[in-house]
Amino acid sequence: MCGIVGVSGVERAAEQAFLGLYALQHRGQEAAGIAAIRDGEMRVHKAHGLIIEGFHDQELRSLDGTVALGHTRYSTAGGAGLHNAQPIHVRYHQGDLALVHNGNLTNAKVLRDRLVSEGALFQSTVDSEVIVHLIARSRKPTVDEQIQDALGQLIGAFSVIITVGTTMYAARDPWGIRPLVLGRKSEGGWVLASETCALDLIGAEMECPLNPGELLKIEDGMVTYLPGLKPADRPAPCIFELIYFARPDSRVWGASVDRARREFGRQLAREHPVDADCVFSVPDSSNSAALGFSEESGIPFELGLIRNHYVGRTFIHPTQTGRDFRVRIKYNTVREVIDGKRVVVVDDSLVRGTTSRGLISLIREAGAKEVHFRVSSPPVISPCFYGIDMPTRDELIGAQMSVDQIREHLNVDSLGYLSLEGMNNAVRQYGPFCDACFSGNYAAPLVDLTYRSKCG
Ligand code: AMP
Repeated sequence: MCGIVGVSGVERAAEQAFLGLYALQHRGQEAAGIAAIRDGEMRVHKAHGLIIEGFHDQELRSLDGTVALGHTRYSTAGGAGLHNAQPIHVRYHQGDLALVHNGNLTNAKVLRDRLVSEGALFQSTVDSEVIVHLIARSRKPTVDEQIQDALGQLIGAFSVIITVGTTMYAARDPWGIRPLVLGRKSEGGWVLASETCALDLIGAEMECPLNPGELLKIEDGMVTYLPGLKPADRPAPCIFELIYFARPDSRVWGASVDRARREFGRQLAREHPVDADCVFSVPDSSNSAALGFSEESGIPFELGLIRNHYVGRTFIHPTQTGRDFRVRIKYNTVREVIDGKRVVVVDDSLVRGTTSRGLISLIREAGAKEVHFRVSSPPVISPCFYGIDMPTRDELIGAQMSVDQIREHLNVDSLGYLSLEGMNNAVRQYGPFCDACFSGNYAAPLVDLTYRSKCG
């Protein structure tokens, strides 16, 4: 997954893009990049790791200009090298072009093979690079039409921001799978970002989200809407953004992420009630859901687990390879909350089950009398092909075991998942959603998957 930001018509735009990426750091921690454009000339800086690790005063000062775009990377397509970090920047026949992309294309392989057979030379292994080639090779007469032509060939998830010279373009795929919002600075200038929490930090007011298939252009301080892509019959914004991915202080799909998670927690309490002394979250992503569970059930909310926020990309010494060590380094229990108690632990999702299993053994060690595990989403049964990093079906515990087997595997007294219907109902007014990871129903066709199996 990734976070993207674009800033247009603001002095020292790169500094604003930096702030935007700082707020979107949760969407990717592997690498970050910013491109800035002055008078049509582009400068780019990319670095491994967190945005504050790779961007200091010196780098930001060198990124001069009133137009900038940035990206935080979490690799879901292509490897981890810096050549795969974004913005992708090229010099094409219409000037300097830069692109940032959030989402995964589902026909990237088909497009890439075709482009390679036509002579295209790729510099990275990321799916996003095909977009740049398609723009450069388009036979349409204007840049607007070249971009529209390129985007029209893509299938899957894409929220993109593109600059050609100092003109900025932004678009979302016809299904509207990944978010992208437009904000306005009161002193003039425009901001595009994956989530509204980036607008807050930049000091921009939310103007509107981009609709599925929408394509806009920002030039000379003006926003114009270009003929976009035909929206899909049924929009499919990703529900996992509300469950886990987005920040709770953001508004995504028109919903407050915090309020949506509380509603998931409330519904979970109605579906799987339990007699217990306290409820706590697996911090931080399930805090809101655990509060909702507590509000609905009347069971007091406690802080039973504390998360170390300084873990980062931990170096684990070879002698510290105990099964639970990775979990221990990140979480610790508050014994006073847990000892002798019947506890409800709320987590937002169960993917492999490895973290949860480790956590439960810590909670038992801290003296819990009973452990009731509640998950504020349904079992994850299918991988995401639209940009959420998820393992293959073989590694998804929800695809391999029944709920009762998972309960035994986790060593909990009871286990309850939010139902698919309960989840969708809780946020019905903002849907319908893509819930493929929970249902196996994929909205955008999985073109590469069929192509690969045909190719053997
Ligand atoms: P596990 O017990 O190993 O399945 O891990 C579950 C935890 O991973 C939950 O607490 C989630 O908050 C978190 N999680 C869910 N999806 C992802 C993801 N795509 N990447 C990283 N962590 C995730």
